[in-house]
Amino acid sequence: MNITNHQSLSYKRNKLFLDNHCINSITKHIKTPFYLYSVKALESNYLNFYNEALENQIKDPLICYALKANSNIHLLRRLKRMGAGADIVSGGELKQALKAKISPQKIVFSGVGKSEEEIKLALNCHKNGIYSFNVESIEELEMIGDVAKTLKKKARVALRLNPQVNVKTHKHISTGGRSHKFGILKDDIEKALRRKKLWTHIDLVGMSMHIGSQLTCLKATEKALNELSKICLNINHDLEFLDVGGGLGVPYSEDQTLCSLQEYMSLIKKVLNKHFIEIPRVVFEPGRYIVANCGLLVTEVIRTKQSAHNKFIIVDGGMNDFVRSSLYGAYHHVLPISKRNGKLSSCHVVGPICETADSFASDRELPLLKSKDRICIGDVGAYGHTMSSTYNMREKVKEYIIGLDGKLVK
Ligand SMILES: *Cc1c(COP(=O)(O)O)cnc(C)c1O
Repeated sequence: MNITNHQSLSYKRNKLFLDNHCINSITKHIKTPFYLYSVKALESNYLNFYNEALENQIKDPLICYALKANSNIHLLRRLKRMGAGADIVSGGELKQALKAKISPQKIVFSGVGKSEEEIKLALNCHKNGIYSFNVESIEELEMIGDVAKTLKKKARVALRLNPQVNVKTHKHISTGGRSHKFGILKDDIEKALRRKKLWTHIDLVGMSMHIGSQLTCLKATEKALNELSKICLNINHDLEFLDVGGGLGVPYSEDQTLCSLQEYMSLIKKVLNKHFIEIPRVVFEPGRYIVANCGLLVTEVIRTKQSAHNKFIIVDGGMNDFVRSSLYGAYHHVLPISKRNGKLSSCHVVGPICETADSFASDRELPLLKSKDRICIGDVGAYGHTMSSTYNMREKVKEYIIGLDGKLVK
C-alpha cells in the first residue's frame, strides 16, 4: 500500500487525498460504488505529454486522445480546451468527441471493423470529413472509397502498418503481431500502393501504427517505428503526418519498471532523424497515459468474511464496475479512505458478483477494515468506466469529477 511515488494520491493525517482534496469530506454523502476523477491530474498529464513532444523538437504534435480509455464528457471538454484531438473506434465515440466540440479536423478513426454506416457518419460530420481514417485492411480501403464516391467526397486516410513485432504486455492488449487482426502487412501496403491511381475518392495523407497497450519497454516500439519510417521513404508520396499510436505504459505499482515519457519522445525523434524523415506533423494516440492516474473507484465494505485461512473483504463494487483486475489480473492499489493505525493483515478484496474472478486484490496487506469503511481502487481512470457493464443486473456505476476549484461535478 506504498503510494509514495504517486503523482495524485497521498495520505495526510491518515486521510486519503486526491490532488489536495480530502476524499472523505468531498464524497461523504455519495452512494458507493462510484468513480472519482481529478481534472488537475488530467491537465497535468496532457501538458506533460505535449510539452515533452515539443522539448524533443517533434514537429507540430497533435495529441489525439484515445476515447476508449475514458469517454467522460467533462474530461473530454477539458482536453478539447487544451487542444487535444481524438482517436475514436466507433460511431458512438465519434458522436461523443463531436459533443465535446473536438474539431473533425483533429479526429482519427481506428479499428478493424468500421461499418458502412460509421464511415458515412465520419465523412458527413464536416465538409472535409475527419482528419484521417486509419485504415486496417485493403478491403476497408475499398469500402471507404466506395462510400466516399457515393457521397461525392474524398476521404483522408492513413494506412496502419502491421509491423510484425511482439510486445511484452498482456496478450489481450498486444496488437502489432503478424497473426493479429490489426493493421496491414508491409507487402500488402506496397501492393495496394501500386494501384494508387484507382483510388479516385481517397487522399492518402499519413501512415500509422499502434502495437499495443501498457508498453513498459521501448524495444518493440523502436523496431516498429523503423519499419514505419522505411515504408514512408519507399512509397514516394508526400504525407502530411506520421501517426505513432498510443500505448505508453503507466506505473500501477511502485515496483514496476517502465520507460519514461522522455525516453519515449526522444526515441521517436531519434528514429525519424535516422531515416531523414521530413514530415510536417507527428500524431499521437495516448489513452491510458492521459487518464489512468486521474481516477479512483470508491467502494464500501459490506462485510468481512473469514473462511479457513482466507480473510475476504467483501465490497459493494464488482467486476462489472471495474474489470481490469479480473480480466487481466492487473494490479491496482487498494487504499482505505481513512486509515486505522495498527497491524496489517493479508486480505482478499472481492466484490458481490457471482464469479470467482470477481476480485480486486489477492493477498494484500491491509489495515483493519470493517463494515461501512470506504476504500479506493487506485489508477482506474483508464479502461475503468468505459469497460463497465450491468452484469448481474446491477446499475451502471456513476462518475464524479473534482474540478480545479475543488467542487464536485456529476
Ligand atoms: C487503444 C488504442 C489506443 C490507446 O492505447 P493506450 O494504451 O490507452 O494509450 C491508441 N490507438 C489505437 C488504435 C488503439 O486501439
